[in-house]
Amino acid sequence: MVALHPITVGGLTRFSTVDYPGRLSAVVFCQGCPWRCPYCHNPHLQPAGVRNGPLWTEVLDWLQTRRGMLDSVVFSGGEPLLQRGLAGAMWQVRERGFGVGLHTAGVYPDRLAGLFPLVDWVGFDVKAPFCDYPRVTGAKSGNAAQRALSYVLASGKPYEIRCTADETLLSPADAGRMAGQLVKLGVDHIVLQAKRMVNGVTLPISASFIEAMAAEIGRVELR
Ligand code: SF4
Repeated sequence: MVALHPITVGGLTRFSTVDYPGRLSAVVFCQGCPWRCPYCHNPHLQPAGVRNGPLWTEVLDWLQTRRGMLDSVVFSGGEPLLQRGLAGAMWQVRERGFGVGLHTAGVYPDRLAGLFPLVDWVGFDVKAPFCDYPRVTGAKSGNAAQRALSYVLASGKPYEIRCTADETLLSPADAGRMAGQLVKLGVDHIVLQAKRMVNGVTLPISASFIEAMAAEIGRVELR
């Protein structure tokens, strides 16, 4: 039995076909993240201790009405691993017949390590070559991310490695170094996401950035 603490929900997307590949999902955005990536899509979710979304009990009640219509619930953020109640929330979701996806940057590797029995799929965000993480996240973070990624890879769970291509933070040479590190860990595929500006416009990713990654890693997908 998993101890139940409520999670703090920062937002809810009721239907998504893109947040868990191949699954119809609801996305629960968890409030709070200790990192400060300049390109963060959800900066309103960074502060902990506030709540921008529904109560978790309200989400559970709503999920009850979606049985047979949705496959899975994806916990996203913010950084879901910040939530003490994440394992309990995942357990409650599974109990209602849904699969579980997790979006994480690996901020708390020890918490991640205990979650794999409850998780069906992981979307893992990588930021930079591990020694350069603080430049992107504004925090001491590379060792945690590397350890968390190694846990994902060892878990045997399906996963997707994603990176936001912000060329004000990462040069093509950085991208190539990062890809080389990922390959050494056993990654053979990466999804590159374009940087999205506050006005919703996405910035094109340069050919040299893509080529530097593709020179190291088996498959580079643009999204
Ligand atoms: S780790 Fe994710 S949620 Fe946290 S600041 Fe960076 S992009 Fe935003």
